[in-house]
Amino acid sequence: MLTRSQSFPTRMPIPRTREKVADKTKYSLIFTAQTPETKRVNKQICFLVETDEGNEWWSIDEFVDGEEFTDSVVCDWVNEKNETATKFPKVRRRCLMCNSFSNHGLTICGRCKFMGRNKYIYG
Ligand SMILES: [Zn+2]
Repeated sequence: MLTRSQSFPTRMPIPRTREKVADKTKYSLIFTAQTPETKRVNKQICFLVETDEGNEWWSIDEFVDGEEFTDSVVCDWVNEKNETATKFPKVRRRCLMCNSFSNHGLTICGRCKFMGRNKYIYG
């Protein structure tokens, strides 16, 4: 069975210290029914983008610069997830940044919060 993970190449996660590829490359997020196409690749949330070289899954890390999101669409998407998590805190959900379960009513786990990732998730 061909799953979606095999239908597009997955780029290796880019280290945070390296200059963001997203800044240099022209890309556009691909939408399905008005929300960006996302899925977990290597256990992290990824967004489907269209680049000059074809469609790729970019991890959420690539849209983060310091304590901000570089893409307003990604930022809005995260805000929406945050709202849902606040509204339904009892639902077990995975952390947006890793594969752990998130804290009650949050979209990130305790470890990611400790690492300061709440600064941009809840910026
Ligand atoms: Zn996490």
